[in-house]
Amino acid sequence: MTVTAGRACATTGYLALCYHYLRPPKAQDRFPRLLGLSLDQLSDHLALFQRRYELLSPEEAWAIAYGSRGVEPHRYGVLLTFDDGLAEHVDAARMLSARGIRAFFFIPTCILRDRLPANPIIVHYGIAAYGLERFLQHYRAALEEEGLSPGDYDIPFRRGRDDPWMAIAAFKRTLTYRLPPHQTRRVLLHIYRRSLLHDHPDILTQMHLDRRQVEDILQLGHAIGVHSHSHVSIAGANLDEAEFLEEVVEPKRYLERTLEVPVNALSYPFGDPQDCLTWETLLRRTREYELAFTVQEVVNTKTSSPLELGRFAPTSSDTAETIHAKLTQMIQEHERR
Ligand SMILES: [Zn+2]
Repeated sequence: MTVTAGRACATTGYLALCYHYLRPPKAQDRFPRLLGLSLDQLSDHLALFQRRYELLSPEEAWAIAYGSRGVEPHRYGVLLTFDDGLAEHVDAARMLSARGIRAFFFIPTCILRDRLPANPIIVHYGIAAYGLERFLQHYRAALEEEGLSPGDYDIPFRRGRDDPWMAIAAFKRTLTYRLPPHQTRRVLLHIYRRSLLHDHPDILTQMHLDRRQVEDILQLGHAIGVHSHSHVSIAGANLDEAEFLEEVVEPKRYLERTLEVPVNALSYPFGDPQDCLTWETLLRRTREYELAFTVQEVVNTKTSSPLELGRFAPTSSDTAETIHAKLTQMIQEHERR
Protein backbone atom coordinates (compact mmCIF):
# COMPACT_ATOMS: atom_id res chain seq x y z
CA MET A 1 0.00 0.00 0.00
CA THR A 2 2.64 2.52 0.93
CA VAL A 3 4.96 3.84 -1.70
CA THR A 4 8.58 2.91 -1.19
CA ALA A 5 10.76 5.62 0.28
CA GLY A 6 12.37 7.91 -2.23
CA ARG A 7 9.67 7.57 -4.89
CA ALA A 8 8.44 10.87 -6.28
CA CYS A 9 5.01 12.02 -5.11
CA ALA A 10 3.81 12.11 -8.72
CA THR A 11 3.80 8.30 -8.82
CA THR A 12 0.81 7.96 -6.48
CA GLY A 13 -2.72 8.75 -7.54
CA TYR A 14 -6.28 7.70 -6.97
CA LEU A 15 -8.54 4.78 -7.75
CA ALA A 16 -12.05 5.49 -8.92
CA LEU A 17 -14.84 2.98 -8.29
CA CYS A 18 -17.99 2.62 -10.36
CA TYR A 19 -21.12 1.31 -8.60
CA HIS A 20 -24.42 0.23 -10.21
CA TYR A 21 -27.27 -1.73 -8.59
CA LEU A 22 -27.75 -1.70 -4.81
CA ARG A 23 -30.57 -4.12 -4.01
CA PRO A 24 -32.64 -4.75 -0.86
CA PRO A 25 -32.47 -8.20 0.81
CA LYS A 26 -33.83 -10.87 -1.60
CA ALA A 27 -36.95 -11.50 0.54
CA GLN A 28 -37.95 -7.83 0.19
CA ASP A 29 -36.88 -7.35 -3.43
CA ARG A 30 -39.77 -7.13 -5.93
CA PHE A 31 -37.23 -8.13 -8.63
CA PRO A 32 -35.03 -10.64 -6.76
CA ARG A 33 -33.37 -11.85 -9.97
CA LEU A 34 -31.57 -8.49 -10.31
CA LEU A 35 -27.93 -8.79 -9.32
CA GLY A 36 -26.47 -6.09 -7.12
CA LEU A 37 -24.65 -5.26 -3.94
CA SER A 38 -26.64 -4.63 -0.77
CA LEU A 39 -26.47 -1.30 1.08
CA ASP A 40 -24.81 -3.22 3.94
CA GLN A 41 -22.07 -4.38 1.57
CA LEU A 42 -21.62 -0.79 0.38
CA SER A 43 -21.34 0.29 4.02
CA ASP A 44 -18.54 -2.28 4.53
CA HIS A 45 -16.76 -0.94 1.45
CA LEU A 46 -17.00 2.64 2.75
CA ALA A 47 -15.51 1.60 6.10
CA LEU A 48 -12.59 -0.01 4.23
CA PHE A 49 -12.01 3.08 2.07
CA GLN A 50 -12.03 5.36 5.12
CA ARG A 51 -9.56 3.11 6.93
CA ARG A 52 -7.10 2.54 4.13
CA TYR A 53 -7.38 5.34 1.59
CA GLU A 54 -7.93 9.06 1.27
CA LEU A 55 -11.49 9.68 0.07
CA LEU A 56 -11.56 12.32 -2.66
CA SER A 57 -14.50 14.54 -3.55
CA PRO A 58 -15.43 15.25 -7.19
CA GLU A 59 -13.90 18.73 -6.82
CA GLU A 60 -10.64 17.23 -5.56
CA ALA A 61 -10.50 14.83 -8.53
CA TRP A 62 -10.97 17.85 -10.81
CA ALA A 63 -8.25 19.77 -8.95
CA ILE A 64 -5.81 16.88 -9.37
CA ALA A 65 -6.35 17.07 -13.14
CA TYR A 66 -6.44 20.84 -13.56
CA GLY A 67 -5.56 22.61 -10.33
CA SER A 68 -2.62 22.81 -8.00
CA ARG A 69 -3.81 19.91 -5.85
CA GLY A 70 -1.29 17.10 -5.70
CA VAL A 71 -1.80 13.59 -4.45
CA GLU A 72 -0.66 12.33 -1.06
CA PRO A 73 2.84 10.85 -1.36
CA HIS A 74 2.17 7.82 0.86
CA ARG A 75 -1.50 7.14 0.48
CA TYR A 76 -3.68 6.46 -2.53
CA GLY A 77 -6.96 8.27 -3.01
CA VAL A 78 -10.37 6.75 -3.74
CA LEU A 79 -13.13 8.49 -5.69
CA LEU A 80 -16.63 6.98 -5.73
CA THR A 81 -18.96 7.15 -8.73
CA PHE A 82 -22.46 5.75 -9.31
CA ASP A 83 -23.71 5.09 -12.86
CA ASP A 84 -27.18 4.79 -14.42
CA GLY A 85 -29.30 7.12 -12.22
CA LEU A 86 -30.80 4.19 -10.32
CA ALA A 87 -33.55 4.89 -7.77
CA GLU A 88 -31.57 3.35 -4.91
CA HIS A 89 -28.69 5.79 -5.44
CA VAL A 90 -30.49 8.37 -3.32
CA ASP A 91 -30.08 5.96 -0.36
CA ALA A 92 -26.40 5.52 -1.21
CA ALA A 93 -26.02 9.31 -1.39
CA ARG A 94 -27.44 9.65 2.14
CA MET A 95 -25.19 6.87 3.47
CA LEU A 96 -22.11 8.51 1.94
CA SER A 97 -23.10 11.91 3.20
CA ALA A 98 -23.52 10.60 6.78
CA ARG A 99 -19.87 9.51 6.57
CA GLY A 100 -18.75 12.85 5.09
CA ILE A 101 -18.04 11.31 1.66
CA ARG A 102 -18.95 13.06 -1.58
CA ALA A 103 -19.28 11.25 -4.91
CA PHE A 104 -20.22 11.58 -8.57
CA PHE A 105 -23.66 10.38 -9.72
CA PHE A 106 -23.85 9.89 -13.49
CA ILE A 107 -27.32 10.32 -14.99
CA PRO A 108 -28.74 9.14 -18.33
CA THR A 109 -30.89 12.18 -19.03
CA CYS A 110 -33.80 10.19 -20.55
CA ILE A 111 -34.86 9.43 -16.96
CA LEU A 112 -35.51 13.12 -16.28
CA ARG A 113 -36.28 14.72 -19.65
CA ASP A 114 -38.45 11.94 -21.10
CA ARG A 115 -39.35 10.08 -17.86
CA LEU A 116 -38.26 6.88 -19.60
CA PRO A 117 -35.72 4.26 -18.48
CA ALA A 118 -32.20 3.84 -19.88
CA ASN A 119 -31.63 0.98 -22.34
CA PRO A 120 -29.79 -1.59 -20.18
CA ILE A 121 -32.15 -1.03 -17.27
CA ILE A 122 -35.06 -2.13 -19.49
CA VAL A 123 -33.07 -5.27 -20.35
CA HIS A 124 -32.12 -6.07 -16.73
CA TYR A 125 -35.64 -5.52 -15.36
CA GLY A 126 -37.16 -7.33 -18.35
CA ILE A 127 -35.07 -10.45 -17.76
CA ALA A 128 -35.66 -10.17 -13.98
CA ALA A 129 -39.43 -9.88 -14.47
CA TYR A 130 -40.01 -12.53 -17.16
CA GLY A 131 -36.96 -14.80 -17.23
CA LEU A 132 -34.71 -14.91 -20.29
CA GLU A 133 -36.85 -17.15 -22.49
CA ARG A 134 -40.03 -15.06 -22.15
CA PHE A 135 -38.09 -11.82 -22.36
CA LEU A 136 -36.64 -12.92 -25.71
CA GLN A 137 -40.19 -13.70 -26.91
CA HIS A 138 -41.16 -10.11 -26.06
CA TYR A 139 -38.03 -8.99 -27.93
CA ARG A 140 -38.96 -10.96 -31.08
CA ALA A 141 -42.47 -9.50 -31.03
CA ALA A 142 -41.02 -5.99 -30.61
CA LEU A 143 -38.67 -6.50 -33.60
CA GLU A 144 -41.58 -7.56 -35.79
CA GLU A 145 -43.89 -4.79 -34.68
CA GLU A 146 -41.14 -2.23 -35.27
CA GLY A 147 -40.73 -3.54 -38.85
CA LEU A 148 -37.38 -5.27 -38.26
CA SER A 149 -36.66 -8.80 -39.37
CA PRO A 150 -36.39 -11.14 -36.34
CA GLY A 151 -34.21 -13.42 -38.50
CA ASP A 152 -31.49 -10.76 -38.75
CA TYR A 153 -31.36 -9.99 -35.03
CA ASP A 154 -32.81 -13.06 -33.33
CA ILE A 155 -31.13 -14.52 -30.24
CA PRO A 156 -31.95 -18.25 -30.14
CA PHE A 157 -32.29 -19.62 -26.63
CA ARG A 158 -33.85 -22.86 -25.31
CA ARG A 159 -34.08 -23.09 -21.54
CA GLY A 160 -32.17 -26.05 -20.14
CA ARG A 161 -30.15 -26.50 -23.33
CA ASP A 162 -28.44 -23.18 -24.14
CA ASP A 163 -26.15 -21.21 -21.83
CA PRO A 164 -28.18 -18.21 -20.60
CA TRP A 165 -25.08 -16.03 -20.04
CA MET A 166 -23.94 -16.61 -23.65
CA ALA A 167 -27.42 -15.65 -24.89
CA ILE A 168 -27.47 -12.51 -22.71
CA ALA A 169 -24.01 -11.53 -24.02
CA ALA A 170 -25.17 -12.07 -27.63
CA PHE A 171 -28.29 -10.01 -26.94
CA LYS A 172 -26.24 -7.12 -25.51
CA ARG A 173 -23.85 -7.22 -28.49
CA THR A 174 -26.74 -7.13 -30.95
CA LEU A 175 -28.50 -4.22 -29.27
CA THR A 176 -25.41 -2.20 -28.43
CA TYR A 177 -23.31 -2.62 -31.57
CA ARG A 178 -25.38 -4.14 -34.42
CA LEU A 179 -28.78 -2.45 -34.40
CA PRO A 180 -28.57 1.30 -35.14
CA PRO A 181 -29.09 3.25 -31.88
CA HIS A 182 -32.50 4.70 -32.80
CA GLN A 183 -33.81 1.20 -33.62
CA THR A 184 -32.42 -0.28 -30.40
CA ARG A 185 -34.21 2.46 -28.51
CA ARG A 186 -37.51 1.83 -30.32
CA VAL A 187 -37.38 -1.92 -29.71
CA LEU A 188 -36.53 -1.55 -26.02
CA LEU A 189 -39.16 1.14 -25.42
CA HIS A 190 -41.66 -1.15 -27.12
CA ILE A 191 -40.86 -3.91 -24.59
CA TYR A 192 -40.94 -1.36 -21.77
CA ARG A 193 -44.35 0.08 -22.66
CA ARG A 194 -46.11 -3.11 -23.76
CA SER A 195 -44.80 -5.42 -21.04
CA LEU A 196 -42.96 -3.90 -18.08
CA LEU A 197 -45.00 -0.73 -17.66
CA HIS A 198 -48.22 -2.61 -18.38
CA ASP A 199 -47.51 -5.25 -15.72
CA HIS A 200 -45.85 -2.91 -13.17
CA PRO A 201 -47.34 0.60 -13.54
CA ASP A 202 -44.96 2.10 -10.94
CA ILE A 203 -41.86 0.48 -12.40
CA LEU A 204 -40.11 3.71 -13.41
CA THR A 205 -39.93 4.80 -9.77
CA GLN A 206 -38.48 1.37 -8.92
CA MET A 207 -35.87 1.73 -11.65
CA HIS A 208 -34.68 5.31 -11.69
CA LEU A 209 -34.24 8.54 -9.76
CA ASP A 210 -36.71 11.33 -10.40
CA ARG A 211 -35.88 15.01 -10.49
CA ARG A 212 -36.62 15.60 -6.79
CA GLN A 213 -34.27 12.75 -5.81
CA VAL A 214 -31.50 14.14 -8.04
CA GLU A 215 -32.01 17.50 -6.32
CA ASP A 216 -31.73 15.72 -2.94
CA ILE A 217 -28.43 14.15 -4.06
CA LEU A 218 -27.12 17.59 -5.01
CA GLN A 219 -28.31 19.06 -1.71
CA LEU A 220 -26.32 16.39 0.14
CA GLY A 221 -23.19 17.85 -1.50
CA HIS A 222 -22.61 15.32 -4.27
CA ALA A 223 -21.93 16.12 -7.93
CA ILE A 224 -23.78 14.92 -10.99
CA GLY A 225 -22.43 14.10 -14.43
CA VAL A 226 -23.68 12.82 -17.76
CA HIS A 227 -24.12 9.14 -18.68
CA SER A 228 -25.41 9.93 -22.22
CA HIS A 229 -29.13 10.42 -22.87
CA SER A 230 -30.42 6.87 -23.36
CA HIS A 231 -27.24 4.86 -22.51
CA VAL A 232 -25.66 4.27 -25.92
CA SER A 233 -22.10 3.13 -26.61
CA ILE A 234 -20.67 6.55 -27.54
CA ALA A 235 -17.78 5.13 -29.59
CA GLY A 236 -19.34 1.79 -30.57
CA ALA A 237 -22.73 2.87 -31.92
CA ASN A 238 -21.44 4.96 -34.86
CA LEU A 239 -23.37 8.05 -33.79
CA ASP A 240 -23.92 10.58 -36.56
CA GLU A 241 -23.63 14.29 -35.75
CA ALA A 242 -27.29 14.68 -34.73
CA GLU A 243 -27.14 11.56 -32.53
CA PHE A 244 -23.89 12.74 -30.93
CA LEU A 245 -25.51 16.08 -30.07
CA GLU A 246 -28.55 14.30 -28.60
CA GLU A 247 -26.58 11.68 -26.63
CA VAL A 248 -23.45 13.55 -25.54
CA VAL A 249 -23.73 17.34 -25.86
CA GLU A 250 -27.37 18.13 -25.07
CA PRO A 251 -27.49 16.00 -21.84
CA LYS A 252 -24.90 18.28 -20.20
CA ARG A 253 -26.80 21.41 -21.25
CA TYR A 254 -30.08 19.87 -20.11
CA LEU A 255 -28.75 19.03 -16.62
CA GLU A 256 -27.18 22.48 -16.23
CA ARG A 257 -30.34 24.22 -17.42
CA THR A 258 -32.85 22.27 -15.34
CA LEU A 259 -30.85 21.74 -12.14
CA GLU A 260 -28.84 24.97 -12.27
CA VAL A 261 -25.50 23.36 -11.44
CA PRO A 262 -22.31 23.23 -13.48
CA VAL A 263 -21.75 19.81 -15.10
CA ASN A 264 -18.27 18.98 -16.35
CA ALA A 265 -17.99 15.19 -16.15
CA LEU A 266 -18.99 12.34 -18.44
CA SER A 267 -19.08 8.63 -17.65
CA TYR A 268 -18.99 6.51 -20.80
CA PRO A 269 -21.90 4.03 -20.90
CA PHE A 270 -20.52 0.44 -20.83
CA GLY A 271 -17.05 2.03 -20.50
CA ASP A 272 -14.95 -0.60 -22.27
CA PRO A 273 -12.35 0.46 -24.87
CA GLN A 274 -14.80 -0.07 -27.76
CA ASP A 275 -17.31 2.26 -26.03
CA CYS A 276 -15.00 5.19 -25.26
CA LEU A 277 -13.49 7.88 -27.44
CA THR A 278 -9.83 8.80 -27.08
CA TRP A 279 -9.31 12.19 -25.45
CA GLU A 280 -8.33 13.63 -28.84
CA THR A 281 -11.51 12.43 -30.54
CA LEU A 282 -13.75 13.59 -27.70
CA LEU A 283 -12.17 17.06 -27.83
CA ARG A 284 -12.55 17.18 -31.61
CA ARG A 285 -16.28 16.43 -31.31
CA THR A 286 -17.10 18.49 -28.22
CA ARG A 287 -15.37 20.66 -25.61
CA GLU A 288 -18.21 20.35 -23.10
CA TYR A 289 -16.40 17.97 -20.70
CA GLU A 290 -13.37 18.30 -18.45
CA LEU A 291 -13.43 14.80 -16.92
CA ALA A 292 -14.42 11.54 -18.66
CA PHE A 293 -14.49 8.14 -16.98
CA THR A 294 -14.06 4.68 -18.52
CA VAL A 295 -13.98 1.29 -16.77
CA GLN A 296 -10.35 0.67 -17.59
CA GLU A 297 -8.76 -0.68 -14.40
CA VAL A 298 -5.93 1.81 -13.93
CA VAL A 299 -4.74 4.22 -11.24
CA ASN A 300 -5.38 7.87 -12.12
CA THR A 301 -2.49 10.27 -11.57
CA LYS A 302 -1.79 13.93 -12.09
CA THR A 303 -0.44 13.09 -15.52
CA SER A 304 -3.34 10.85 -16.64
CA SER A 305 -5.52 12.33 -19.38
CA PRO A 306 -8.55 13.71 -17.49
CA LEU A 307 -10.66 12.56 -20.45
CA GLU A 308 -9.55 8.91 -20.14
CA LEU A 309 -9.82 8.25 -16.41
CA GLY A 310 -9.94 4.67 -15.19
CA ARG A 311 -12.39 3.03 -12.77
CA PHE A 312 -12.98 -0.36 -11.21
CA ALA A 313 -16.58 -1.63 -11.15
CA PRO A 314 -17.29 -3.94 -8.18
CA THR A 315 -19.69 -6.83 -8.82
CA SER A 316 -22.45 -8.16 -6.54
CA SER A 317 -20.06 -10.71 -5.02
CA ASP A 318 -17.34 -8.22 -4.06
CA THR A 319 -16.69 -7.88 -0.33
CA ALA A 320 -14.51 -5.23 1.31
CA GLU A 321 -11.71 -7.85 1.32
CA THR A 322 -11.94 -8.71 -2.40
CA ILE A 323 -12.12 -5.01 -3.30
CA HIS A 324 -9.09 -4.27 -1.17
CA ALA A 325 -7.22 -7.12 -2.91
CA LYS A 326 -8.25 -5.77 -6.31
CA LEU A 327 -7.22 -2.18 -5.52
CA THR A 328 -3.91 -3.40 -4.08
CA GLN A 329 -3.29 -5.34 -7.30
CA MET A 330 -4.06 -2.23 -9.40
CA ILE A 331 -1.63 -0.20 -7.27
CA GLN A 332 1.10 -2.84 -7.59
CA GLU A 333 0.68 -2.93 -11.38
CA HIS A 334 0.82 0.88 -11.41
CA GLU A 335 3.99 0.96 -9.31
CA ARG A 336 5.70 -1.62 -11.55
CA ARG A 337 5.24 0.58 -14.61
ZN1 LIG B 1 -24.25 2.57 -17.35
